[in-house]
Amino acid sequence: MKGKRRKHIPLRTCVACREKRPKRELVRLVCTPEGSLEVDLRGKRAGRGAYVCRKPECWQAALQPQRLSRALKCQVSAEDTAALEAQIASLFEAESTVKTAVLSEAAGR
Ligand SMILES: [Zn+2]
Repeated sequence: MKGKRRKHIPLRTCVACREKRPKRELVRLVCTPEGSLEVDLRGKRAGRGAYVCRKPECWQAALQPQRLSRALKCQVSAEDTAALEAQIASLFEAESTVKTAVLSEAAGR
């Protein structure tokens, strides 16, 4: 019996809410071999990656040095997360899907 071929959709887990989603619905963070933390919009950068949903509440939860250090298995400092937060904020702003105010509120904590 031949069934329909299912398309394989790669799933990744959000480091904040632990939900599995199709890779393209998540934003990849990568710890590059040089040791810097970057947003990897194309998902092609070398290095260990972690994925986060495009939701402000997930970013609030994910952008914590300890959590990211564990997820990426590299040292993440508070400056790293702050820099990342700025990148994410401008990304969201560009897409105008999420209010950046939510993210800056989280930064002020
Ligand atoms: Zn999430």
